[in-house]
Amino acid sequence: MKKQIVLLPGDGIGPEITESALQIIKSAGIDLDYVVMQAGAESAAKTGETLPSEVVENIKKYKVALKGPITTPIGTGFRSVNVALRKELNLYGAVRPSKNLEGIRTKFDNVDLVIVRENTEDLYAGIERMVDDDTAESIKRITRSASMRIAEFAFDYAVKNNRKKVTVVTKANICKFSDGLFLECARQTAQKYPQIEFKEILIDNLCMQLVVRPHEFDVLLCPNLYGDIVSDLAAGLTGGLGIAPGANYGEDGAALFEPVHGSSPDIAGKGIANPTALIRSAVLMLNHLDYAKEAAKIDSAVNTVIKEGKFTTPDIGGNATTKEFTSAVINKLK
Ligand code: NAD
Repeated sequence: MKKQIVLLPGDGIGPEITESALQIIKSAGIDLDYVVMQAGAESAAKTGETLPSEVVENIKKYKVALKGPITTPIGTGFRSVNVALRKELNLYGAVRPSKNLEGIRTKFDNVDLVIVRENTEDLYAGIERMVDDDTAESIKRITRSASMRIAEFAFDYAVKNNRKKVTVVTKANICKFSDGLFLECARQTAQKYPQIEFKEILIDNLCMQLVVRPHEFDVLLCPNLYGDIVSDLAAGLTGGLGIAPGANYGEDGAALFEPVHGSSPDIAGKGIANPTALIRSAVLMLNHLDYAKEAAKIDSAVNTVIKEGKFTTPDIGGNATTKEFTSAVINKLK
């Protein structure tokens, strides 16, 4: 029987890169049954809901989802559908690998980082209000249970993926209670994993160290906001948002795979979006679905096309379209 997954093509460049990823998955010999759903601005226009309850119900039912980026209005408008999805599905652990790909010129070679981001609380809990016309307040909520859960997840990930070091990232010198609690939970968990080196760093220092000596880092364990920001920084270090994949894992086996990048309104509809980040997110998904052989084949085909450099998209220095890049990857799969 075909495996069923939920597919959310998303907004902006989402549908263009989703089309590419689906063609590539099919060309690798995998026939999945896609339950296609809409969320975000487009869904709101059609149904009045940004996150229809069937989307959450279907992901709960089918357990696995592949998702394109979804636009979130800045400053005003509806709450982030991405944040709501992670929260409602309790997808507490985001994993975002950042590794150089041969063929993309970057400041450093051989960067190989994984960001593990707590996905359910911190400033993303959306506890915000206007105290009066001139004063706004956002609450940074960190709990022991969520911090212990993500710390355990990060160390377990390190062990299972042959990683050597976990560095916890906080601003515990200033946010003594909230980040202090996150740090305490990481320290406590580290004691259970003597085989994994444990380090602590303040977020400001990390930002400097990452652009000077990124090889010092392996797994970065971050609360939600720092994890979000550092993911883009790490993507920039290794070739940009066009290539950075992500996965979100929950407690009950639900998993949602999506690129780190957003809907890129500046290039949407131009046919030049780089589908690599979504394809690499799909590779993470295929591994999760036990299609390891096919996942490795796709990964290798993408890497070869990028290394050869003849059919790469403008964001990584080429002048090919999304479709030309996709055809080149498919040719490598033949
Ligand atoms: P963005 O990631 O969409 O774009 C940042 C820059 O990177 C743009 O110049 C864009 O063209 C480029 N870029 C990103 N992905 C690319 C790709 N695949 N190929 C080529 N170039 C690429 O960030 P933004 O502009 O700050 O956000 C746009 C919207 O996306 C916002 O509404 C934001 O809330 C949303 N967003 C969604 C997600 C998600 O769905 N998980 C993540 C981040 C941002």
